[in-house]
Amino acid sequence: MKKVLTIAGFDSSGGAGLQADIKTFLTLGVHDLSVVSAVTAQNSKGVYGKKRVDFLKEQLETLGDDIKIDAIKIGMLSNKKDIKIVKNFLKNRKIPIVLDTPWVSSSGYDLLDKRDIQYFAKKLFKLSTLITPNTLETNMLVGFDIKSLKEMKKAAKKLHKKYKLKHILIKGGHIKGDVAIDLLYDGKNFYIHKEKRVKSSVDFHGTGCVYSSAIAAYLAKGYSVKKAVKKAKKYITKSIKKSYRISKNGSKYLKGK
Ligand code: PLP
Repeated sequence: MKKVLTIAGFDSSGGAGLQADIKTFLTLGVHDLSVVSAVTAQNSKGVYGKKRVDFLKEQLETLGDDIKIDAIKIGMLSNKKDIKIVKNFLKNRKIPIVLDTPWVSSSGYDLLDKRDIQYFAKKLFKLSTLITPNTLETNMLVGFDIKSLKEMKKAAKKLHKKYKLKHILIKGGHIKGDVAIDLLYDGKNFYIHKEKRVKSSVDFHGTGCVYSSAIAAYLAKGYSVKKAVKKAKKYITKSIKKSYRISKNGSKYLKGK
């Protein structure tokens, strides 16, 4: 069985972060290696606190000494120290690495301090096979607001050049419209992935986490980046369609299976 590692934050409400990644790995038939970078206190309304887990290096080294890892997904890192530890762990690894950019939760909580975002980008982007920012995260890096596919393309080109990226997937779910459009760019070609938007009056929790961990699982299974993104987009759309509430007025949680 292929073994995929997630390095991510613990979500006490069971919808994002490590929990989302583990459920996705199990559903897609890969083994779930999981290293916790931070613990969050959160419920279906939002994140209320975070605490770094001062044990990241030990967890990573212990796994790395023993197990052949087939792909890595990286989620929440809450400070510079952890970014540096992960950077050292990733160096010279010749396996697919999917880097998510969960800097701010949908409820507006900073999972990573704003002042450390540039450091995150500079240290980790070039080591990754694919980075998966949404348009809000991309806005923070390019300095203009993305409201259309044209601007997504402009941003993808700009970031590809600036950070020497291999692939970038900009998720356009925050752009208004009947379809949710994501744009994949490999430095030469653009690939557009469209799905009909699933309408809801409340947010879906952990969508970015599930999407990026599904991509990592498909990459571990040997699919190309293009094919892995295509399959993961179908998977995330299906998971969103099957989402459910765990409280009154809270966000919706994605179904694992
Ligand atoms: N909590 C953790 C641990 C996460 O990793 C993330 C996103 O990656 C979130 C919360 C935020 O999820 P959402 O934006 O769906 O609220």
